[in-house]
Amino acid sequence: MAGGGTTGSSGSVSSYMSKKQVVCDCGGVAVVRTVKSGANVGKKFHGCPKWPDTECKFVKFIDEIGEMRSELEELRLNLFERDVIISQMEYQRQMNEEKIQKLEFKKDSMKEENMELKQQLRQMKVELTRATTNEKHYSVALLFTWVFVGFIQLVRKYI
Ligand SMILES: [Zn+2]
Repeated sequence: MAGGGTTGSSGSVSSYMSKKQVVCDCGGVAVVRTVKSGANVGKKFHGCPKWPDTECKFVKFIDEIGEMRSELEELRLNLFERDVIISQMEYQRQMNEEKIQKLEFKKDSMKEENMELKQQLRQMKVELTRATTNEKHYSVALLFTWVFVGFIQLVRKYI
């Protein structure tokens, strides 16, 4: 029924899944079968889905090594892409860490600055309080001076 190397074989639908769909001469989607006997035993091919109840002699051998090679190439490409993505992510992560460190540093310096400002404020408050007290003392001293001067003048009048 089937032509070529499949003569006398009872090809069965294989579990082998080819990614590419192959269209049979009769219009159906060819199924993957394995050659059971003959020179091409073990080889996989796309055959007519209606076989053996058909006159269609469609046979297309699968270049397994070629497909495996391209699959390997694809995997290699995927691996490469994955590596690129991983290194990009690693880079991004490093950038983020740097950013976090910078922010952390900024936060620390801001904290320091804040503390410094607080301390300055506290010092100013203390100085202000001291100044007010000094002013009070000064005023009292001034008052005493005037009182003393007035007293002296009063005493002079009577001497
Ligand atoms: Zn067919």
